[in-house]
Amino acid sequence: MKTIFEKSNGTEGINLTDDSEDLSFLDKSFLRTQSPELPQIGELEVMRHYKELSDRNFCIEKGFYPLGSCTMKYNPKVNELLASLEGFANIHPNLADEYCQGALNLMYNLQEALKKITGMDAITLQPAAGAHGELTGMMIIKKYFESIGDNRKKVLIPDSAHGTNPASAHMCGFEVVGVNSDKYGRVDMEHLKSLIDKNVAAIMMTNPNTLGLFEENVLEISKLMHENGSLLYYDGANFNAIMGYTNPKVMGFDVVHLNLHKTFATPHGGGGPGAGPVGVVDKLKEFLPVPVVNFDGEKYFRDYNLKNSIGSVKAFYGNFGVLVRAYAYILMMGDNLKEASENAVLNANYIKEKLKKYYDLPYDLPCMHEFVLSGERQKQNFGISTLNIAKRLMDGNTHPPTVYFPLIVHEAMMIEPTESENKEKLDEFIDIMIKIAQEAETNPEEVLSAPHSTPVRRVDETLAARHPDLKYNCSDK
Ligand SMILES: *Cc1c(COP(=O)(O)O)cnc(C)c1O
Repeated sequence: MKTIFEKSNGTEGINLTDDSEDLSFLDKSFLRTQSPELPQIGELEVMRHYKELSDRNFCIEKGFYPLGSCTMKYNPKVNELLASLEGFANIHPNLADEYCQGALNLMYNLQEALKKITGMDAITLQPAAGAHGELTGMMIIKKYFESIGDNRKKVLIPDSAHGTNPASAHMCGFEVVGVNSDKYGRVDMEHLKSLIDKNVAAIMMTNPNTLGLFEENVLEISKLMHENGSLLYYDGANFNAIMGYTNPKVMGFDVVHLNLHKTFATPHGGGGPGAGPVGVVDKLKEFLPVPVVNFDGEKYFRDYNLKNSIGSVKAFYGNFGVLVRAYAYILMMGDNLKEASENAVLNANYIKEKLKKYYDLPYDLPCMHEFVLSGERQKQNFGISTLNIAKRLMDGNTHPPTVYFPLIVHEAMMIEPTESENKEKLDEFIDIMIKIAQEAETNPEEVLSAPHSTPVRRVDETLAARHPDLKYNCSDK
């Protein structure tokens, strides 16, 4: 496909020159002497160009997107409409409180809603993504221990954790200590107990963990940690597993982050804007980043008056547009948030049960919002790796699942159908997966050479990561 610059043929699509404008008040040095080198192409060709580009992309509106842990569910378009309302989209972040009561009201109400959903006592909306929320949470934990004169250095993290967890703890200056999983894919309690000492500041946990399994010993874990004076951090990126059924406060956690862009419906991926609010229990309230949005009974205001605040973690107070979408989604769903979790869990279990005959299922237990298959059988018997299966799925207009993660499963395929898919779509995916398993046996070449139908076939992933070529030369093509 040619770039828009290569397609440029001198046709004037739009004329930006307005000769009637008197520009003599501008200093000559500000004026161009040469026209900018913009592509010149007719409007219809511009439309075709960008339509073709968008067709080369994959999105939830195009097909099934079971990318484990990423919650690629359908994001209702009404959220986009509301976030683009002029009063929200064009508001200036430096407006005085009295001129943006509506926006502050929305943020306050969102904080209140997230307090209900998480059970926590206070919320900051500032962090821009999940990993940023983790960093914020760990900074709060660090400052808490400083404030009581306890210089704890270690953070325990189960080996099934999302990679961002150890990264965030490390960036905060903590020493990361891995906790093994037991044969059921859950935290190995004996190993955990052997690691607890007075140097442990916190444990960072995901529950359900990245195998999609609920940590049934979570109450015992929180008891052990609290008895040791340690805190508990909850990675709540995938809240669609538990909304309305339980919450981190009930489980004994002190800090939690949420991914509004996953659970609360903002289109994400490709580095788009997110939001990773952090909730804390009462005793950590004074450490939150400033400002938090508060209400004095009459008006809403930005509160900078937090005794031990870690400071700000982002300009202003987060990605406001994402907050609007999340608030709209929560209001629209109401009590049905509980039903969303129910469907997320039901959908995952349905696929798991249908596919476990055809692929290895290392942890054969009821799952939550996702589960992890292994392509080990296909690899051993037919030389078909999980990567090949992922590529072949693309021929079925399906985004591949998350692969080779979590690390504790060989040839892992982490499947998260989300709550927004109907049974027909789930059945379609199941059929494609079964067909690929059969192909691996009878026609492995078809799988090994996939994808056959995508605009770009196989890319050299190592080369792309090690030597990214970010500049396009027309002469390359
Ligand atoms: C997605 C995810 C994160 C990271 O969130 P980002 O918004 O991508 O930074 C952290 N933990 C878990 C379990 C996740 O699924």
